[in-house]
Amino acid sequence: MHQHIPTQCPICAGRVEQGTTTFAVDLKSGLIVVRNVPALVCTQCGEEWIEDSTAIELEQITARAKAQNSQLEVVSM
Ligand SMILES: [Zn+2]
Repeated sequence: MHQHIPTQCPICAGRVEQGTTTFAVDLKSGLIVVRNVPALVCTQCGEEWIEDSTAIELEQITARAKAQNSQLEVVSM
């Protein structure tokens, strides 16, 4: 499955650039925050897209943090 990465924002037609974002997931056991996640960001409206490979990495980080059972886990990619 390939996620289409736009070069132009489908929402506002703004320019999409490579940047970083912060990903947060609130699990029942705790909160996981991943900083410096590579993403494509619209320079106009701020909409973000994450590539498949990044999404897979995020899942692995989330699974690891979940296994540690901490209340708050802040990691950097
Ligand atoms: Zn936009």
